[in-house]
Amino acid sequence: MEGWGRYPRHESQAIDCRLPGALAGTVAARAGLIGRGNGRSYGDAAIGEHATLMCRGLSRMRSFDPANATLTVEGGVMLSDILRSFVPRGYFPPVVPGTKFVTVGGMIASDVHGKNHHRDGGFGDHVSELKLVMAGGETLTCSPTRNSELFFATVGGMGMTGIIAEATFRLRPIESGWIAQKTMVAENLADALKALQQTEDATYSVAWIDSLSQGSSLGRSLIFAGEHATLDQAGGMPDAGRFAAKHAGSFSLPFDLPQWVLSKTSVAAFNELYFRAGVRKAAKTSLVHWDKYFFPLDSILEWNRLYGRRGFLQHQCVVPAEDALAVLSGILERFARSGKGSFLAVLKKLGGGSGLLSFPAPGYTLALDLPVTQEVFRLLDEIDELVVKAGGRLYLAKDARQSRHTFEAGYPRLAAFKELRKVTGADRHFSSRLAKRLGI
Ligand SMILES: Cc1cc2nc3c(=O)[nH]c(=O)nc-3n(C[C@H](O)[C@H](O)[C@H](O)COP(=O)(O)OP(=O)(O)OC[C@H]3O[C@@H](n4cnc5c(N)ncnc54)[C@H](O)[C@@H]3O)c2cc1C
Repeated sequence: MEGWGRYPRHESQAIDCRLPGALAGTVAARAGLIGRGNGRSYGDAAIGEHATLMCRGLSRMRSFDPANATLTVEGGVMLSDILRSFVPRGYFPPVVPGTKFVTVGGMIASDVHGKNHHRDGGFGDHVSELKLVMAGGETLTCSPTRNSELFFATVGGMGMTGIIAEATFRLRPIESGWIAQKTMVAENLADALKALQQTEDATYSVAWIDSLSQGSSLGRSLIFAGEHATLDQAGGMPDAGRFAAKHAGSFSLPFDLPQWVLSKTSVAAFNELYFRAGVRKAAKTSLVHWDKYFFPLDSILEWNRLYGRRGFLQHQCVVPAEDALAVLSGILERFARSGKGSFLAVLKKLGGGSGLLSFPAPGYTLALDLPVTQEVFRLLDEIDELVVKAGGRLYLAKDARQSRHTFEAGYPRLAAFKELRKVTGADRHFSSRLAKRLGI
């Protein structure tokens, strides 16, 4: 079994579960178990130490209350299905990550952040209630006010408190399925951080960084701010249906590509073209379909094959705002110097996270993708030291390799999390390869 990055790979018994009624017995029967949604976490978070409960079969939408836009679904329901069903009805999920091919259970367990984290928090902040199947098979209902300790351990708890059988959360009413996008150009990292600060009032904002630029243009970026387009804005678009289902056609990579395809030269060429295209669009507001704005990578299905059979790593850290310029410059410089340009480099501003192990913390988060090689492990260890020194942390949903030292330094509420696992018996029952590696 493997995660989206295809590294590492471990043996684990896959157990299917489609009926909520069968969950109690299935869960109680096995120790060393972890829940798995759609396997879009990059590393070993969704690989059970001994067994893995495949939750995609828990795929029923239970109810929708239009009076307060509240949706109740089973934990294995896919975000893509929610979007397909609810965008045409004028609703959008409160928070979406960079792929729609994730489950609600996976989004809660990772407390995923979107391009609106600086304003709206993580997905967990919008969950009003969840049903959790515990180690002994019993189901507990928890919310921010009921069994709240368990609730805040489960949000961002990477499946280590139990199986999320059902969840209730609020959707956001929208007037159209289009995003009014404004592109800004930043000549270097200092400008990029400033631009993200200045776009704090925008509902959505994110920066794409040219990871190979160096010297005075280190960190040159394009910043994309976005708002759900109003009825007027969308109506003014030529032949656009307000909630058009159209999205760019998708295709699958039919085979693993050799590693040279993502060489320094090809990444540099891509970055240059992408940057220039962004410069041409700068300062204009354009209407972009929601699918393209939020999920550009989803149009290439199985794009993880781009990196070849050895797989790839994503390094995602968050560092406090005060030190962000120095630390992120240090990280980007090391990357650029090593010639390991990242095909994907993304910068965002985050607010705080509410779960005990939630990744978001006030500051800036930088995510970089890299193919698996021996030198990359050394480079990332060096970079982790910078992150730890600055009081930052790495995202568990992306992690495949951080050390216990890095992890423990970054998550100050870990002791409370472990205590709760002990009290509920979860520590003897729920365990992933990530939990084992990091001693959780
Ligand atoms: C292209 C891409 C872009 C991404 N962009 C972002 C982003 O912008 N922001 C962000 O925050 N993340 C992002 N991610 C990460 C992704 O959102 C998370 O890894 C998400 O949790 C994956 O959901 P999943 O259903 O595939 O869960 P899995 O990967 O299967 O599992 C993830 C975790 O959730 C637990 N889990 C899953 N289902 C359950 C359940 N029913 N009960 C209990 N625990 C469960 C697992 O044990 C595991 O610890 C991105 C990933 C990809 C591939």
